[in-house]
Amino acid sequence: MTSDMIKNTDKYIMETYKRFTPAFIKASGAKLYDENNKEYTDFLAGIAVCNLGHSHPKVNQAIKDQVDKYLHFSNLFYMEPQGELASLLINNSFADRVFFANSGAEANEGAIKLARKYAKDNGTPEKYEIITMVDSFHGRTLATISATGQDKVKVGFEPNMPGFKYVELNNINALIASVTDHTCAVMLEPLQGETGVNICNTKFLKELRAFCDTHDLLLIFDEIQTGIGRTGKMFAYEHYGVEPDIMTLAKGLANGLPLGALLSKEEIAKSFVPGTHGSTFGGNPVSCAAGVATIKTILEEDYLKKCCDLGDYFVEKLNGLKGKYSFVKEIRAKGLMIGMELDFPGADIVKKCFDKGFIINCAKEKTLRFLPPFVIKTDDIDALISTLDEIFAGINS
Ligand code: PLP
Repeated sequence: MTSDMIKNTDKYIMETYKRFTPAFIKASGAKLYDENNKEYTDFLAGIAVCNLGHSHPKVNQAIKDQVDKYLHFSNLFYMEPQGELASLLINNSFADRVFFANSGAEANEGAIKLARKYAKDNGTPEKYEIITMVDSFHGRTLATISATGQDKVKVGFEPNMPGFKYVELNNINALIASVTDHTCAVMLEPLQGETGVNICNTKFLKELRAFCDTHDLLLIFDEIQTGIGRTGKMFAYEHYGVEPDIMTLAKGLANGLPLGALLSKEEIAKSFVPGTHGSTFGGNPVSCAAGVATIKTILEEDYLKKCCDLGDYFVEKLNGLKGKYSFVKEIRAKGLMIGMELDFPGADIVKKCFDKGFIINCAKEKTLRFLPPFVIKTDDIDALISTLDEIFAGINS
């Protein structure tokens, strides 16, 4: 059965991803199963997507209920789950308005367009440049690879879209020095996920917020990976006491269905009027129904606290390994977004963990990244830690 799946995938799908074998055929909570019923414990959650775990009963029920009503009318008509999800997002964030897209990159495209349009609408047509961070990741479309502060995602796709500059994370002086009369916004991830959990510091974000306010620059937070409870707050900006003007979401928003969102203050949102931006599928009712169930469950079942507590437990155990193995350089974490930097590439360790039934990931070559679903158990964490201990001991000897 899975051999056909693997054969068809390898033969017919463009090879933009390397896939692990064997293939999974079902999943529930933090466990995935292959066709021999071998169990794997999930420390990746579909790359920070299935935050409530796989096949969550409330999310699945909401999806089924919506499927039985209707799938799609288009954004020319009202669709109930969109309004419900929008009100949940607005009532739990700094924002006044939301635009729904299908993915993270699309949400960021929207944010880039909105920042440029707002500058034009407010008497500064010369402003279009956006400053982003070195080692950021904002997506794979042409605008978002241009926004991304990593050369490797751009190679072969030149010319890059003009209008982006990159500065070192947490370096306010570098950022201030790079602003020109053309700058309209600064865009960053409060924690960089794809490049190994690099964390913004509070002083930097506070100084940046003040600088943006005094220089009429918009502050855009890409919370595509950090949002929806991943760091132990609904949105990572809440850790800092610093609110953005625009925020983007995707990944965990619908716990596994495709959905992206762009949120902003009312004054900025006014720059999007009929005809300026749109998406046929954006805000699909089934995805939005899943989003409503996801956010309500996170809030009602205290998952933000669970995420913090589990994160603290996990980090303590990882620090134990750091004390034991000198090649572990640093543990970086907020909630259940955790990186363990090694002094050598981690791909081999990821593969060894997989063979032993643990799904982890490696970001920017040397950082093991753990993004478990919030339903992970302390026993699962203990089991991974002893597996890592065993693998690390083999490296040491
Ligand atoms: N922004 C961040 C911070 C991300 O982590 C990602 C994906 O990893 C994206 C944007 C792109 O999202 P998508 O793959 O849904 O387009």
